[in-house]
Amino acid sequence: MRVSSLIDILIIGGGPIGLACGIAAKKAGLSYLILEKGCLVNSLYNYPLGMTFFSTAEKLEIGGLPFVSINPKPKRAEALEYYRRVSLTYDLDIHLFEEVKNIADEKEHFTVKTSKGEYHGKNVVIATGFYDEPMLLDIPGENLDKVFHYYREPHYFANQNVVVVGASNSSVDAALETYRKGANVTMVVRGQEIGQRVKYWVRPDIMNRISEGSIQIYFSSNLTEIRENEVDIQTPEGQITIPNDFVLALTGYRPNFSFLKKIGIKNSDKISKTPVYDPVTMETNVEGIYLAGVVCGGLNTHSWFIENSRIHADQIIQAIINKLNK
Ligand code: FAD
Repeated sequence: MRVSSLIDILIIGGGPIGLACGIAAKKAGLSYLILEKGCLVNSLYNYPLGMTFFSTAEKLEIGGLPFVSINPKPKRAEALEYYRRVSLTYDLDIHLFEEVKNIADEKEHFTVKTSKGEYHGKNVVIATGFYDEPMLLDIPGENLDKVFHYYREPHYFANQNVVVVGASNSSVDAALETYRKGANVTMVVRGQEIGQRVKYWVRPDIMNRISEGSIQIYFSSNLTEIRENEVDIQTPEGQITIPNDFVLALTGYRPNFSFLKKIGIKNSDKISKTPVYDPVTMETNVEGIYLAGVVCGGLNTHSWFIENSRIHADQIIQAIINKLNK
């Protein structure tokens, strides 16, 4: 079992913002350790293989290192390479495939228990993102093997009857990609239109495929039951049943609220479940525990991106330095 001496900052999560926190700590001469339950930038690794970011490359940069891409918007594979090189360049202290199970407040310090050991830190930064927990449909048949809450790539769905639930970037990308590999795609959308946040260069593509009838779509509709060979959809005109081989339920993701609750972090708002934190220092209601990155948004997962949350790293390190100097 790994056991540490007292570290200035334990950072939970090795996504872009966890890495940014490690870099900021290192630059400030503070001891730190990043604990990541999966591979380096695990969420990005699990994105669809052909995914294109909506941000331009420079908006995804951390640690002042240039992200060079030949595309106007970088691809997932380029981002993996970029963050791997950043981590190497800064020689970041990071333990991969080590999940944090619990954080105990011992008053003078925190004890962080992981799948492989125990660490003691004066401060803890939670940078755990939101990509681990899919929003469930909560309907009969959702547990069938043919239902996916993460989409990787289209080939698997060639010549199949595929239902895509949702109208966000993930759903639209999956619908277009699988359609282009010969799937018979039906989209089921709770709202009345394709999401306004869908990438501006993708939106016309999906709108045209829908209007020419290449992709079927049911607006103001809900999937109500999934069975082995068919699904039921509640539409404004009544319930329909269509043949179905696979369901891609891409209805969004949420932070691990039970983890936040277990360590004592409160919500500031019951509906959005936004965690309590000071927007200047990023310190939560638990003194010495800070939040960084997209975990800060609670259920408002669209409020924070890499673009606007990478500054959390400097805010947190500055706050910790200020405390040390008191
Ligand atoms: P994450 O990258 O999610 O990192 C959190 C890390 O914590 C993960 O690696 C996870 O494995 C780890 N972790 C979780 N729990 C534990 C635990 N208990 N112990 C140890 N490790 C743990 N943002 C942009 O700015 N531009 C874009 O173009 C963009 N495109 C996106 C496309 C998609 C499909 C999605 C889902 C999001 C996109 N975002 C984009 C939003 C956001 O910027 C990303 O989600 C980004 O990964 C957030 O960085 P993060 O470091 O806060 O969280």
